[in-house]
Amino acid sequence: MSAAILDGKSLAKQIREELAVEVVDFIRTTEVVPTLAAVLVGHDPASEVYVRNKRRDCEIVGIHSQLVELPAETTEAELLDVVARLNADAAVHGILVQLPLPKQIDETAVLEAIDPAKDVDAFHPENVGRIMQGRPRFLPCTPSGVQELLLRNDVPIAGAHVVIVGRSDIVGKPLAGMLVQRGRGGDATVTVCHSRTADLAAITRQADILVVAIGRPEFVTGDMIKPGATVVDVGINRTDVGLVGDVEFASAAKVAGRITPVPGGVGPLTRTMLLVNTLTAARELTARVGE
Ligand code: NDP
Repeated sequence: MSAAILDGKSLAKQIREELAVEVVDFIRTTEVVPTLAAVLVGHDPASEVYVRNKRRDCEIVGIHSQLVELPAETTEAELLDVVARLNADAAVHGILVQLPLPKQIDETAVLEAIDPAKDVDAFHPENVGRIMQGRPRFLPCTPSGVQELLLRNDVPIAGAHVVIVGRSDIVGKPLAGMLVQRGRGGDATVTVCHSRTADLAAITRQADILVVAIGRPEFVTGDMIKPGATVVDVGINRTDVGLVGDVEFASAAKVAGRITPVPGGVGPLTRTMLLVNTLTAARELTARVGE
């Protein structure tokens, strides 16, 4: 193996430690405790674990969390009522509705109902639009984690050709929108690939920074990577041999200059960015009250 490891786990710990100091300072100066409300509908085991972890992360940095648990048969109207109540609750700064929602509920309708100022996942169209215009309120957690990982490891982004494989609304598209902006963490030349891309390997081999988010275990192999490139593997796939990414680590690490492991790469940063957004929301909402 020649690639250096981009260690998301220790970077996430460092960011959480920095954040804990900021939270203490915020509480001391405002007497407001940043608060995240997590809404969990039904009993999807993976969602229960995600929400439990997010709440534990909050505790670690001094952010208060509330859990609103609703039965699987909750109607869309009932969930919209809960969101409206949380929107109106001045003690709540961030609202997270854990996806997926049961099939009787239209996810888009629910995500659009969240007050954009409390939308710490940055899924609301207003927040997505702000990202595209280069004046974000919040950055979506996974793309933000990827950008932070690159910045804090001094990976040159400006002028780099970034190839992103995957065009989902939560990873590929917003990340492309962020890296193409002017200024720090941006100024990249971005190519977005997807399942209809012709000759994918010819494009991935041009990447100075290759980000893969497709949900296909070990799909990207070493021969698809330019020697010395930085490889960021967003994928999390549960297989018989445990968790693997979308990149075949062994062959990729022989060619790449830097590479993220799975687990321990992007995942821990995704979780941490939610906390960053919750403090940002608390700051903005508290400043508004003072105006
Ligand atoms: P989606 O299923 O929403 O999107 C997958 C994307 O990959 C689509 O754009 C699809 O193309 C593209 N794609 C699928 N197959 C291929 C292929 N053979 N060649 C090229 N492109 C392909 O996935 P998500 O973005 O939600 O998640 C992607 C992965 O990242 C998953 O493994 C997920 O678990 C993981 N993930 C990890 C996070 C973390 O914190 N580390 C957070 C979020 C996700 P098309 O649009 O044409 O269908």
